[in-house]
Amino acid sequence: MNKLNKIFHTANIQLSLYRFSLPFKYPLHFKGHQLTSREGLWLVAGQANEKHLIGEICPLPGFSNETLEQCQQHLLTELQTSSNLQKRSIDHSPQIPSIDFALSCLQQQISWHRADNRDLVSLTSVPLLQGDHSDILLRYQQLTYPAIIKLKVARFTVKEEVTLLKNLIQRNPKIRFRLDANQQWTEQQYSLFLSLIDTQHIDYIEEPTVSLISNINISEQFKVSLALDESLLGIDSVPIHHCIKALIIKPTLIGCPKRVDQLLKHAQQQQLNISVSASFESPVAINQLQHLAIKWQQQYNVKVSLGLDTLHVFADKPSDIITKLENLLMLPHLNPSMQVTCLWKS
Ligand SMILES: [Mg+2]
Repeated sequence: MNKLNKIFHTANIQLSLYRFSLPFKYPLHFKGHQLTSREGLWLVAGQANEKHLIGEICPLPGFSNETLEQCQQHLLTELQTSSNLQKRSIDHSPQIPSIDFALSCLQQQISWHRADNRDLVSLTSVPLLQGDHSDILLRYQQLTYPAIIKLKVARFTVKEEVTLLKNLIQRNPKIRFRLDANQQWTEQQYSLFLSLIDTQHIDYIEEPTVSLISNINISEQFKVSLALDESLLGIDSVPIHHCIKALIIKPTLIGCPKRVDQLLKHAQQQQLNISVSASFESPVAINQLQHLAIKWQQQYNVKVSLGLDTLHVFADKPSDIITKLENLLMLPHLNPSMQVTCLWKS
């Protein structure tokens, strides 16, 4: 906490809390929640003549344990109960990952503008192809047959998904897949899937079933690699096994910077790949995740790939959202032309 206090102890810093709502192009479903827009909070720290720093708090319904209302209430109480800005401290509970993420970005002064392309090319970018099978085949063609793609599986029957993969292999016999089942297969379905596909094409599979032990046993039997995503949220120490090839790090869901650091060190020691992944945050947090990914690749000397291609779901262009936000912060008295409400200002 002391480090965080430093940000808020600086004289003449103005803090504001904004609530935003960014419409999606079409409604999206998250584990039973249908969302037409992404709602969240921006905690903005600004000093005269200096760039604003932003921490985004954007819990994802169905995935985050905390709700946006809880985060909002928590932050407002913290902001309002401190009458003297010089003594302000945001005493947050470490169990609120969305707030932890926001505060760690403020603490590290992570830029919320898009990272430089020269830095971004050093990271592996694996396109996620979504939609029904004809959409995916079309998108694969539009992307001019990339060597590696990510696909969500366990959405249709095993046989239908095997057919899709075979169709993709036909189009590019050297294609490799990163598959993500989000723990939706049974052990039988996972084994059946692997028995029907040429496993040479699988780079790794994220979270095939809900049981990590079954995942390791079946993957070992079929000689395929695994990536851990959801499992990382529920365990203290990461299991070491030669089948495990990658860790999916979602900083906004993990929150606690120490935990992220622990995972990165584990990846460094075990030579695992890292995928820095988003949870449908706004362009502000997505840009910050890019900066963090670049920083981690250099600092930990691990292979980092980005799983951040979720911005296309917003009705507005990401660069327009950033420009509108800049205008709002520079000229707060003007109508911001986006759905943003100031909840608190020091
Ligand atoms: Mg995943």
